[in-house]
Amino acid sequence: VLTHRQVIVWIERTAEVMKANRDTLTELDAAIGDADHGNNMDRGYQAAVAKLPGDETDVGAILRSLSMALISKVGGAAGPLYGTFFLQASNALKGRTELTEADVERLLETGIDGVMMRGKAQAGEKTMLDALIPARDAFATARGRGASLTDCLEAATEAAGQGMRATIPMIATKGRASYLGERSRGHQDPGATSSYLILKTLTEIAQ
Ligand code: ADP
Ligand code: MG
Ligand code: MG
Repeated sequence: VLTHRQVIVWIERTAEVMKANRDTLTELDAAIGDADHGNNMDRGYQAAVAKLPGDETDVGAILRSLSMALISKVGGAAGPLYGTFFLQASNALKGRTELTEADVERLLETGIDGVMMRGKAQAGEKTMLDALIPARDAFATARGRGASLTDCLEAATEAAGQGMRATIPMIATKGRASYLGERSRGHQDPGATSSYLILKTLTEIAQ
């Protein structure tokens, strides 16, 4: 299982990862957007850590706090989209003090549904969904054959990495990158990259 304490450490560690990858994410966004994705994610996660309810044991409440920080501190597309991801997940996990394999799958499932509802994007449009959807599918497949939480997460992170790289040849049809049309081809999507980093960090914490 993943304890409430590990969920808090996930947020803290992700904040460090976003800081360390701020320039990389911003460079990716400079190519097909407005060069702020690294700053957005860094600022959002720093705000989330500052507001973290350190003694909270309800995972739903912890994820709700993360969601509120991302929605209020990050402008543009990614803040509200990640905010919605974690808000939907927090509603689904209300009252849980630890997460089983089924709960983590539910976190991914409900989070993705929230992003799709809010951003009206599907797979293949060169967005964060192109990392998140393959990750959820790989997680579900691994869980279906009885894999441990760590193995499910490793499968999910590997699929997210492949999905992230698969955004390179895609043409963006949602978000700022869609303004470039055909010229968005040949660049990795910044949001798919931050989603991969968020999942990779969770996988490291679950070890
Ligand atoms: P902005 O584009 O407003 O500057 P960011 O740069 O922080 O916001 O985030 C850009 C990322 O948001 C993109 O790389 C993409 O992954 C994601 N994104 C944009 N629009 C959508 C959408 N409609 N659905 C899902 N993800 C989206
Ligand atoms: Mg941007
Ligand atoms: Mg912007």
